[in-house]
Amino acid sequence: MKTQTKNIIILGGGYSGVMAALRLAGRTKRLDTRITLVNALNYFVERPRLHEQATGTAPQQRPLAYMLRGTKVHFLQGWAAAVNPAQRCVQVQTTSGEQQLAYDYLVIALGSRVDRHTIPGVQDYAFTLDPYGNLTSEALKSKLTLYGQNPFRVVVVGGGATGVEAATQVKGKYPHSQVSLVTQGEVGAFKRGQVQQHIREALREQAIAIFENARVNRVEREGVVLDSGQVPADIIIWAAGFVASPLAREADLQVNAQNQVLIDPYLRSLSHPNVYAVGDAARPVEEPGVPTRMSVFTALVSGAQAAENIAAQLKSQALQPLSFVWYGQGIALGPRDAVGFATYPADVAWPLIFRGKLALKIRDFFVWYLGIVLELERQIPGFFYWNGKGRYTQQKRQQQRKTEVTYLA
Ligand SMILES: Cc1cc2nc3c(=O)[nH]c(=O)nc-3n(C[C@H](O)[C@H](O)[C@H](O)COP(=O)(O)OP(=O)(O)OC[C@H]3O[C@@H](n4cnc5c(N)ncnc54)[C@H](O)[C@@H]3O)c2cc1C
Repeated sequence: MKTQTKNIIILGGGYSGVMAALRLAGRTKRLDTRITLVNALNYFVERPRLHEQATGTAPQQRPLAYMLRGTKVHFLQGWAAAVNPAQRCVQVQTTSGEQQLAYDYLVIALGSRVDRHTIPGVQDYAFTLDPYGNLTSEALKSKLTLYGQNPFRVVVVGGGATGVEAATQVKGKYPHSQVSLVTQGEVGAFKRGQVQQHIREALREQAIAIFENARVNRVEREGVVLDSGQVPADIIIWAAGFVASPLAREADLQVNAQNQVLIDPYLRSLSHPNVYAVGDAARPVEEPGVPTRMSVFTALVSGAQAAENIAAQLKSQALQPLSFVWYGQGIALGPRDAVGFATYPADVAWPLIFRGKLALKIRDFFVWYLGIVLELERQIPGFFYWNGKGRYTQQKRQQQRKTEVTYLA
């Protein structure tokens, strides 16, 4: 008897979406499934390299169809315009017109983008390190090239890793430019102690001016406006605050203020359990044994675990919770410097910190590896492995014990 084909649609062909597609293809080889990956561009974007691309380094553009070759995944280039959970279908705009795709399982892997709407003027005057759209990395590259060897002023807004990487990269490639970093809190506050100290030292050594505890009220053509006055700029790069695609919110899925889909421990939408969400687009309501943040590693792990769980559902097997440990983090501090450190297991930096060329090499190796791991997953389904799969359950048990003790006391 012929069984009914199960349609699985994955929206977004970044780290999480491609990993989900490849893992699912491997896990459902003998099942009657149709897997479709939808992405706006027809090539894969290595977002951790966008600041390098904006300053002239040629991006490595791997076509998505090539990355999925030899698997049962169908690639569709198009813009996911709407999700209709009641009808279980998505609307995709392609160059040949609009398509309605029906699904049994949907994976939302649409990543995140810089929030351009909250602060007035960002939309009109600031560049972002996003792969496409107005005033994004290609346009920034053209503008920087236009100034060339002439003096110019750059203001980068955002004291997180993306802001620090953008400011130091521009300064490193255009040493004659005057670069300022403006942030609402402290620079590098995402990892305090020695790491933050190293980041501050690097900025000082590179003569990058720091404006801390400075809220930008407005962005104008000539600069950014703080409470204390204007910081003039010829180029403004906005690297503060990331938000997910509005698609899930518009479809009435339960989301947080950043439009991230709220997911249960098995990566299913709280409101719509046949919709999975992964990577930057998702927010677990219970920590998976460690704190989470937007990163390539979280994207890969969640993409792989969602695929495992969809395959398990199709085979009537038990689902496994998202659970992992962190290994380390590297932040580029321009083309010649970086800071790298281990964060095993719970994303807290170890006291041993690498800096300089060695740290940059380590960071570059990991960015390269995180891209190459997708090719290895294609060749050897199930290749991508991570540690800490029991952490969520362990933490859950500890919490239960604590609650019992409190209750008894
Ligand atoms: C400049 C920069 C530097 C970074 N550096 C690091 C780093 O060093 N280390 C690290 O771990 N993380 C880094 N990050 C964060 C990291 O890149 C993200 O956390 C990661 O890419 C998330 O993967 P994802 O699959 O969730 O989303 P993405 O990789 O963003 O993929 C989402 C995909 O969905 C597509 N898409 C979006 N909307 C639609 C739509 N409506 N229709 C069709 N397609 C759509 C996009 O085109 C994209 O291909 C950096 C980010 C930036 C911006």
